[in-house]
Amino acid sequence: MLTVPQNLLSRLRLLRKRIEAAANAAGRNPLEITLIGVSKTHPPAAVREALAAGLSDFGENYVQEALDKIDAIGPGAATWHFIGALQGNKTRPVAAAFDWVHTVDRAKIARRLSEQRPWHAPSLKVCLQVNLGDEQTKSGVAPGGLRTLAAEVAALPRIELRGLMCIPPEESDPGRQRHWFHRLRELREDLRDAGHALDVLSMGMSGDFEVAIAEGATHVRVGTALFGPRS
Ligand SMILES: *Cc1c(COP(=O)(O)O)cnc(C)c1O
Repeated sequence: MLTVPQNLLSRLRLLRKRIEAAANAAGRNPLEITLIGVSKTHPPAAVREALAAGLSDFGENYVQEALDKIDAIGPGAATWHFIGALQGNKTRPVAAAFDWVHTVDRAKIARRLSEQRPWHAPSLKVCLQVNLGDEQTKSGVAPGGLRTLAAEVAALPRIELRGLMCIPPEESDPGRQRHWFHRLRELREDLRDAGHALDVLSMGMSGDFEVAIAEGATHVRVGTALFGPRS
C-alpha cells in the first residue's frame, strides 16, 4: 500500500509522477494525458487549492453542487467536466456551465445539450459513455448501440463529439481491468473506421488509472487519490 501524502500539493505531485511513469512505460507522451480532479463532495476551497497548485481540469457529478461550486470559483477559472448521470430536465444548466460532458448515452440528451448550449460559448465537447459490462446499475450505451448514437450525436450543430468514456465493472485484478479498457479502445477504433475523428478515451480512476493509461487513456478522472476520501 502506498502511503498517501497529507497535503494536496504533495498528492498532486505524486499523481503527476505516477501518470508520467505510466505514460513512459507505455511509450506515450505524458502531455497527451489530462488529469481531471474529481471534486464532487469537496468544497470550493479544495478546488481553489488545486488550482493554485496548477491543476486546471475538474470533474463534478451532481448538477446543483457543481453549479454552486463553479459560481464560487468564478467563471472561466477552470475547465469543468460533467461526469455524472444526466437527466433530461437538468441539461440546460449543464449546457451553460460546463466545457465537457463525458456521460452522454442517448440521443435525446445530446439533442437537448446542443439546443441549450449558449450561442456565445464554443461547442460543448462530448464523450459517449459506454456500458461495457452490460451492468444494470450503470448508465451508458450498450456497445451494440454505439454506431447509431455516434452518428446522431456527430450531426448536432453545437456539440463536438470527441470520444468515449467508461466506468468498467469492478475488478481488482489489473489484467481484468486492462481487458475493459482495451475494449473501449477497440470501440473507438470501430468508430474511427466509420469516419468519426475521435481523439479522447476518458477512462481510469484512483484505483486503475495506470492500467487505463497503458491502454491509451487521454483523460483520467481521479478523486480520492487527489482530494482524499469522500464523506
Ligand atoms: C467519483 C467518480 C470518479 C472518481 O473516483 P475515485 O475513485 O475517487 O478516483 C471518476 N469517475 C466518475 C464517473 C466518478 O463518478
